[in-house]
Amino acid sequence: MSDLIYKRTNANNTKSSEERAEINAYAEGYKAFLAAGKTEREVVAETVEMVEKAGYKPYALGDKINVGDKLYYNNRGKSLFLIKAGKADVAKEGIRILVAHVDSPRLDLKQVPLYEDSDIAYFKTHYYGGIKKYQWLTVPLALHGVIVLKNGDKITVSVGEDDNDPVFYITDLLPHLSQDISTKTVASAFPGENLNVIVGGIPALDVDKDAVKQNVLTYLNELYGIDEEDFLSAEIEVVPAYKPKDVGFDRAFIAGYGHDDRVCAYPEITATLQTETDQTVLTILADKEEIGSEGATGMQSVLLKDLMDCIAQSYGVSSAVLRAHSQCLSADVTAAYDPTYREAFEARNAAYAGYGVAMSKFTGARGKSGSNDASAEFIGHLRGVFARDEVVWQTGELGRVDLGGGGTVAKFLSNWNIDTVDLGVPVLSMHAPYELIAKVDIWQAHKAFCAFIK
Ligand code: MN
Ligand code: MN
Repeated sequence: MSDLIYKRTNANNTKSSEERAEINAYAEGYKAFLAAGKTEREVVAETVEMVEKAGYKPYALGDKINVGDKLYYNNRGKSLFLIKAGKADVAKEGIRILVAHVDSPRLDLKQVPLYEDSDIAYFKTHYYGGIKKYQWLTVPLALHGVIVLKNGDKITVSVGEDDNDPVFYITDLLPHLSQDISTKTVASAFPGENLNVIVGGIPALDVDKDAVKQNVLTYLNELYGIDEEDFLSAEIEVVPAYKPKDVGFDRAFIAGYGHDDRVCAYPEITATLQTETDQTVLTILADKEEIGSEGATGMQSVLLKDLMDCIAQSYGVSSAVLRAHSQCLSADVTAAYDPTYREAFEARNAAYAGYGVAMSKFTGARGKSGSNDASAEFIGHLRGVFARDEVVWQTGELGRVDLGGGGTVAKFLSNWNIDTVDLGVPVLSMHAPYELIAKVDIWQAHKAFCAFIK
């Protein structure tokens, strides 16, 4: 009677050597994508390049969309909407929506960042998203972003990725002198205002005051033609200078910065580009998820509704009817069970690295507060879809009840009367500067997204 018992399976167990080769090739594509996109702007730019090669054309709000069109709407360079217009009747079938986010936890430069203390030049930062601050000390850091001048010219900054580039650095106190700090709580031992990034240490000659800062400004002026005031209108992100790497003798895992949530964005894009379907597909790369999906580029923006209205109008149907029949996968990562910290998880319901893509019926905190909590009907439907296409999937949840929690964009989609559930890759060390995922899980995410939009 063992058939009556629900069992998870390690997704690696079921793989033929041909599929193994396919998984490894897919993982190489993802690693290149991850290495090239360390900020939301960079991921949007590289995705635009990918989809243009596949024949996608820019879309302007209000333009009519015709069956067969492949379009992209680039929202301020920070979020991206792909529209693939199918021949299915959107009044009956709605549209299929895939949404992942492409912003990741990091340190942002403040608006007046540069100062000098004790002959060392620093940038002041303000962290973005949920981080454990101590993880950002004593690791190689890169600077990525834009500086916009008064005349509107935009300068792109990327330093620390090339092997010949310098990197940047935040200090930590030596253990010999850490008696006071080591008795504090982690939260109080590492204040946000201490996340100061070293950017220089040689004084300009014949300068009395702030000579190191002056020298750094000379470098910046030579490199970018800017002065200190230009930082007022800059967005520069401090990110780990690490490249993605295989982990383990068997190369089962990939360590990288920003798996959350680019490990779901990438399969979303590949599934959209590769799947032949009659459905209309809206594929979204969102910004600002890590700070609550606020702002014009976050998923709470009315732009989502505006684009759905544009699709509905083009098909000559009511937007309300289109939305009511639409379905969405909120493609976001979940916590992978970590046996070293087993007390943080409930082993029967946690997601496991290597066990396939993970579906979280709900997220949230305490009594599911802030959660979308998908319906049994929608999950039942998806079980059938995934069984049909042999997707290896598992359930997931964000840790033990009452330990903490978190949210995704799922609730902002379902607010529009759209059936939505979270489905994504389990991550170890989520939100760390160097996160870990299993290769087989991103492959299963790709298969799940293909099955969903087919
Ligand atoms: Mn996420
Ligand atoms: Mn996150």
